[in-house]
Amino acid sequence: MLDELRRQVCSLHMELTRYNLVVWTMGNVSARDPQSNLVVIKPSGVRYESMKPADMVIVDLDGNVVEGAYKYSSDTLTHLYIYRHRPDVNGVVHTHSTFATAFAAVGKPIPCFLTGMADEFGGEIPLGGFCLIGGIEIGKVIIERIGASKAILMQNHGLFTIGKTGEEAVKAAVMAEDAARTSFYALQLGTPILIEPQNIARLYERYTNVYGQQ
Ligand SMILES: [Zn+2]
Repeated sequence: MLDELRRQVCSLHMELTRYNLVVWTMGNVSARDPQSNLVVIKPSGVRYESMKPADMVIVDLDGNVVEGAYKYSSDTLTHLYIYRHRPDVNGVVHTHSTFATAFAAVGKPIPCFLTGMADEFGGEIPLGGFCLIGGIEIGKVIIERIGASKAILMQNHGLFTIGKTGEEAVKAAVMAEDAARTSFYALQLGTPILIEPQNIARLYERYTNVYGQQ
């Protein structure tokens, strides 16, 4: 089932390793098929190096396994909670990428110091409070706190990103780590300058509607 989406989700996991966003078996990507509402997600505890499209697990929005030989990722219930509450979201990514997670460890959101952040996120990357892993608690906090952003830090834990597709969610995870890295270095040099809200809005509008090949 969903062979093309299985291939996509498997290859999107390779982007996480390519951009050094994950170690060992940490992190996961899922994507929803908008027609069937089924979700393709990473199997639990499988190494990225040996991951194949056939290893992906297909679940329904209630967490019933529809197809797959492996147990699903331990973050699956979080992903499914997001899909149930955000019909516009068809991709979810979770990483413990270093710089973003450093902000999560000290319980700080990442303010919008960079035009690249204004473009991609339309503002700061918000912070959700401490939650135990594996249940819907994280999903609830994400839905409450993420707002219009594509990324959120979970305190003491890591990064979750969302997108209209799996690829868009992976891009947001790459961009969030890049923004966190630059912001970290900027904070060592002095006090970074916040971008005015009206300029953030203009940058976001331009990037969303004008930038690139339309
Ligand atoms: Zn995690």
